[in-house]
Amino acid sequence: MQKKIALEEHFMAPGMEEYFALTAINISPTLFGKALESLRDFGERRLSAMDAIGVQTAILSLSGPGVQAEPVTATAIRKAKECNDFLAPIMADSGGRFGGLAHLPTQDPKAAADELERCIKELGYVGAMVNGQTNGAYLDDDRFSVLWERAEALEAPIYIHPYNPPDFPYMYHNHPELYGPVWSWTVETGNHALRLIFGRVFDRFPKAKLILGHMGETLPYQLWRLDSRWPISNRGELRLDLPPSAYFKRNIWVTTAGVCSNEPLRCAIDALGADRVMFSVDYPFERADEAGTWFEAAPLTDVERALVGHDNAAKLLGLDPS
Ligand code: MN
Repeated sequence: MQKKIALEEHFMAPGMEEYFALTAINISPTLFGKALESLRDFGERRLSAMDAIGVQTAILSLSGPGVQAEPVTATAIRKAKECNDFLAPIMADSGGRFGGLAHLPTQDPKAAADELERCIKELGYVGAMVNGQTNGAYLDDDRFSVLWERAEALEAPIYIHPYNPPDFPYMYHNHPELYGPVWSWTVETGNHALRLIFGRVFDRFPKAKLILGHMGETLPYQLWRLDSRWPISNRGELRLDLPPSAYFKRNIWVTTAGVCSNEPLRCAIDALGADRVMFSVDYPFERADEAGTWFEAAPLTDVERALVGHDNAAKLLGLDPS
């Protein structure tokens, strides 16, 4: 069995349930209750699910939307810190089984940058996860330059995880099933990544590192068209240093989180390169055994399976490659 690192594995911290409860608009309330138990467990249940599929290290992140949904800035700053302080000793005592992505109070970009630095330098985190937009602000906004600058200096990847847009788009009217993981989260998160590219975040911060889940939120399938159509877009005055597809091969990594399917896996690897795709489960929202069984039998060379299963994540996150 291929040894693995998994990057989009979720937990719940005390006091953060109220934010998670907001996803009742997106997912079945039955799943919500079941997931909470698994999210709060850092013991036998989680470890045996990891062991069964060869996951040596699970990189844990708060189950969203967390403080990205908090309207009060001071509360967001306090609760993000509490969340990061909660996970830190669990990681430290796990014997290398758990790593972590920091939770950031994006309401205040300077505070988010400071919290990222504290988490990386003092608490052993390997990056951060941001659950989509914050009170209508996306990470291409100029005010987030302080965060990208710090992340670049710390060599810390930022994982953009799906959540809802700031307003309810008419396109989902009368179709609540489309509003959430079935479709709208893909649209929202893929769009967020494109805002970063066309907002020139990666021109300004060429060493910034972005991670997308869900096999790249369908974007690997679109690279040729992005390159082909963007020069005739209605932003004639906008220049990019590189064709859009080039940023995917320089600044963006994708994970298999929540997608156990050969065709999009092959598409992601063939479009982006085998060095940019990383195994993940999206525990507990995806079954670990299904993700592991699928990955072991997926149509990959041995080299690709080692890169995607383990080595790419070890390199990107600076984990012991042994
Ligand atoms: Mn997830």
